[in-house]
Order: sequence, then C-alpha cells, then structure tokens
Amino acid sequence: MSTPNIVELYGVTKAFGALTVLHDIDLTIQQGEILTLLGPSGCGKTTLMRIIAGFEATTHGRVTIQGADVSYLPPDKRPVNMVFQRYALFPHLDVFDNVAFGLRLKKWPKERIREAVQHMLHLVQLGEYGNRWIHELSGGQAQRVALARALVNSPSVLLLDEPLAALDLKIRHHMLAELKRIHQETGTTFIYVTHDQDEATILSDRIVLMNKGRIEQIGTPEEMYAHPRSLFCARFLGETN
Ligand code: ADP
Repeated sequence: MSTPNIVELYGVTKAFGALTVLHDIDLTIQQGEILTLLGPSGCGKTTLMRIIAGFEATTHGRVTIQGADVSYLPPDKRPVNMVFQRYALFPHLDVFDNVAFGLRLKKWPKERIREAVQHMLHLVQLGEYGNRWIHELSGGQAQRVALARALVNSPSVLLLDEPLAALDLKIRHHMLAELKRIHQETGTTFIYVTHDQDEATILSDRIVLMNKGRIEQIGTPEEMYAHPRSLFCARFLGETN
C-alpha cells in the first residue's frame, strides 16, 4: 500500500510583478516523509514553502493539505507550522513562555499547556531550561526552542526554512541528528529548505532539486547521486561547500 499524500501542489505559478519565480509546479508530499527543497539561492525554494504555509498566495494553481484545498486559507487556519533560520523567539519571555505563547492565544487550559510544553521541552532535550531567558541560550539551544514552539500544537506538517544556516558546522551536524530523531518520535511530515547538498543528503527521504523556479529532478538521495537527470543536477549535487 502506498503512503497517502499530505500536501499536493497543482500547477503552482508565482509572479512578483513582471518576474515569474515559480513555473507550473506539480508536487506531492507523502505523509510522514522528510522532503527537502534543494537548489541554488534564488531558485524559488522559500517562495514555494511560503505558499504552502499560506504567507504568499499563488498567481495560478492550487495547494491541498490533507485533501482539502487551502489555497485561500490564511496561515493560522492551515495545519502547518514554520521554523525560520533566525528563530524569531520573543526575547522578553523565558523558554517556557516562548513555547506556550501560541497555546495561550488559542486559550488552551493552563494544565494542558503545562503538560504539552514540558513534553516538548523534553523532546528537544531542554527539559530543565523552562525558566531560562533566550539570551542565555546557545544558538543550537535557541533553535531547539523554536522547534519545540513549532511542534507543540502537533501540526501535520512542519516547514523548516534553512533552520541550521545560522549555526556553526559542528552544531549543525548535531542538530541534523536531532531533527531526524524528533521527526521519528513525532511522525510529523517535514518539508525542509536548504541550498546545502550535504544537509539534504543526510536528512531527506526525498530531495526536490530546483532550478530557476522549476523542478529539475525528484528522488531519494541515492537515486539523485546515482542517476542525475541533467548536467545541472550532476553539477549541483557534485559541488562541495
Ligand atoms: P530561494 O529560497 O531559493 O533562495 P526565493 O524563493 O527566496 O529563492 O526567491 C526566488 C526569487 O523570487 C528571487 O529572484 C527573489 O529575488 C524573488 N522574490 C522573492 N520574494 C520576493 C518578493 N516578496 N518580491 C519580489 N521578488 C521576490
């Protein structure tokens, strides 16, 4: 039996004024997978992710999540959350309150919030850090708080936009392993944006390689390296940082 699709894009086109940055993208993302949008800077990865999240409207085309057309739904009505490169945490709140913020807006009962936040902080291995201020954390710890905040209301899909780019290399490798573990423990579908081939290879079930607003190739990391479909794919995958 094949895995059900959780996100489907049909003919997604996006123009900013006269500039078309996404051209007629068809893509299906399977429940529970880690799918990476990979490609050089400016190829449209972030725009595609922002369209899935609802921060950008499509110029043409449709987006469905769990079978429902969400093309006209605002971000807070979609079952997705997003983690950004610069974690966008609230500096005036401690770690616990950062993670609890969205749940309080949704008026969850106090006890349920406490349980959910504590559970998430344990999951990201910051169980003892609830009372810390954001400025007391390392970059890797701050990014784990951002992950906890994005996962605490159990979204169906987590969108991660270059979440490790601001971290140094050693911490990045550690965080990749952490992301894999968290993905396994939560079963959440991850859509991950990076321009880094190594990150994509280590993390992904499938890679979508993009170039100038189009999909060049989709496959598992092994398939992509063994059978690059074009010179662009072979060159891009072969590059080292
Ligand atoms: P990537 O994430 O692959 O680096 P982006 O999706 O950020 O690429 O950008 C794709 C193209 O769209 C780039 O040419 C960028 O300058 C352009 N672009 C992105 N956002 C906007 C915007 N709000 N207004 C105008 N152009 C934009």
